[in-house]
Amino acid sequence: KAFLKALPKAELHAHLNGCIPLSCLQDLVRQRPVQTSGTTESDEKIAKGLAMLEQGVVLEEIHEFFDLFPAIYALTSTPAALRQATAAVLAQFLQPQGDSGEQEPAQCIYLELRTTPRENAEMSREQYLDAVLCEMETYSADKCALIVSTDRRMDTTTMMECVSIAAKLKGAGRRVVGIDLCGTPTIGNAEDFLPAFKLAEESGLKLTVHIAETTANTEQDVMTLLSANPSRLGHATFLHKEARELVLEKKMAIEICLSSNLLCKTVDDLKAHHINYWLEHGLPLAICTDDTLVFRNDLVGEYALLMAAPPLGLGLSRDKVSLLAKMSLDVRFEQ
Ligand code: 5GP
Repeated sequence: KAFLKALPKAELHAHLNGCIPLSCLQDLVRQRPVQTSGTTESDEKIAKGLAMLEQGVVLEEIHEFFDLFPAIYALTSTPAALRQATAAVLAQFLQPQGDSGEQEPAQCIYLELRTTPRENAEMSREQYLDAVLCEMETYSADKCALIVSTDRRMDTTTMMECVSIAAKLKGAGRRVVGIDLCGTPTIGNAEDFLPAFKLAEESGLKLTVHIAETTANTEQDVMTLLSANPSRLGHATFLHKEARELVLEKKMAIEICLSSNLLCKTVDDLKAHHINYWLEHGLPLAICTDDTLVFRNDLVGEYALLMAAPPLGLGLSRDKVSLLAKMSLDVRFEQ
């Protein structure tokens, strides 16, 4: 583990609201009466969601995972609460771990954190992103940057709005480097997302898309998303042959989330995981956590899965694991 902890690596696929430390959420629950007046979520629902997270979530199907977020969102629905959550997430990834006596290296040396800007009575989408960026910018520019997520539930106008705000913030020198597409994998028509992706490209923002996460994602959906020429792909679990060929030809990097795929049951075991295919074909990969709050994982643990002997892990050599860590740094959106 000491080898894995000391390995310089980047976390490139982490969702802000999916990575809030449980202790921070519990603090936000205590502060809630003052902090989240704009929310419609009932206390009962929040308590239920939080209890699930405390006990450890057992998911039967991937869609159950998305049902968890309304409770978390109710706790991060003001700029102040959002800043508190962002600060905790940044510390979790970027601060040395353990007591000051025997400190261990941080989880990673660089973090690209992503989040979907929400608007409510308390804040606009721009204010949402400003709150997150204010916390990120307390770290130096070589430590972290923001990816603005769009959600498959959004209509074209809302997606365009999110990308416009991201472009405006980037133009103003704020630390925004890319756009993501996330949200329930089978919702929405990929054609409707293309104008927003085009605007991202024109604004100098890189693109990453969650793609082929479930067997229900059609080949047409996958090919339409690939036509936007993303630099990186999230999950890419069920790419069909034509899509795999295009990904290899264009050398798109894949963000690999091992625990997330196992716990959402989109992959049966590590032997069957698509990482094996991409390792064989030499594609750039980035090992990532996805949602540390929900999956109770951390980046060092994800790398441990690479090295552990089968069937627990993939049994990769130290050299191969070092190479993967280097790859994660090589495929950052901004070097
Ligand atoms: P946020 O963007 O609010 O900071 O982070 C939570 C959101 O990220 C969720 O509502 C969901 O839309 C998205 N998300 C988190 N994990 C995944 C994932 O594994 N797949 C997809 N498609 N979306 C995810």
